Amino acid sequence: MENSYEALSLILDSITEHIVVIDDDGVIQYTNKSWSEFGNSNACAISGDWHGVNYIEECDKASVMGDDFGAKAKQGILSVINKTVPVFYFEYPCHSIDQKRWFMMRVTALKMAGSAYFVISHQNITERKLAEEEVRKLARLDGLTDIPNRRTFDEFLHHEWRRCLRLNKLVCLAIVDLDYFKLLNDRYGHQVGDECLIQIGELLKEFACRPGDICARYGGEEFALIWSDTPLEQAERLSNELLVKIMALAIPNQESPIEDYLTASVGLAACVPKKGSSERELISLADSMLYRAKANGRNQVEC
Ligand code: GH3
Ligand code: MG
Ligand code: MG
Repeated sequence: MENSYEALSLILDSITEHIVVIDDDGVIQYTNKSWSEFGNSNACAISGDWHGVNYIEECDKASVMGDDFGAKAKQGILSVINKTVPVFYFEYPCHSIDQKRWFMMRVTALKMAGSAYFVISHQNITERKLAEEEVRKLARLDGLTDIPNRRTFDEFLHHEWRRCLRLNKLVCLAIVDLDYFKLLNDRYGHQVGDECLIQIGELLKEFACRPGDICARYGGEEFALIWSDTPLEQAERLSNELLVKIMALAIPNQESPIEDYLTASVGLAACVPKKGSSERELISLADSMLYRAKANGRNQVEC
């Protein structure tokens, strides 16, 4: 470490963060090796020598090209230069054609030989972002069936309810309850019961294809389907089709008093949301329709 300049330069070049130092006009004074390598491997407009390039103008160019983050980066850099904030950092996506990537940009001030400089670093935070994405995804899905869970369903219905209120559109809700599922569990075991629920979940996915649709595990052996902006007749047709497909799975349920295989009942309700009303009304309506389908002999849609 005798030659301290060379040592520091080597240290900075060994760091994986992309580092650039600018003066208070935004002109680049220094870049480390990671910075140059990233620029070269990502087809940046400037390859090779970055010295003398105005970083803030580059941010401007990026925002003119439609990059929202260019404008944010510029704002952040200026706020540190103007001493509005001591440090600025923000996270931004920077996906390549074949890879999802995120970076964190950090700007800090540096005083050297009486002049003001600013260190801008970009750290790759892709691993953390992917882990966060995965956690968010897992929190939305039911652990057994891999379809949306009750919480996701509640949020979705709430959102669709308000959207359809604004647009004066119909929201259809089907609650699907497996018939005599307890008897199936008792006869074949809980694990076989779980397999059935997985199969039903897979089937339900086919019935929720549009952006206003969702299928979810509502709880236990109950599932729910929302079809927004869908005529009731179509929702009824879909519900009947679902029951036919559940029977076609031919899942044995020997103890069932009505069929030798697994069946289901559907309570279907539809509403055009009105001001001051709540989606809970739709749920209780579908619930009472389900009760009727059960009372009328099961394996049917009540609407
Ligand atoms: P009905 O036709 O009136 O709906 O009868 P049912 O037997 O389906 O209804 P009941 O509410 O009596 O029983 C529901 C059964 O669903 C009992 C419970 O053990 C089973 N069940 C709920 N969640 C799960 C699960 O995650 N896995 C398994 N294997 N069974 C479950
Ligand atoms: Mg039930
Ligand atoms: Mg049941």
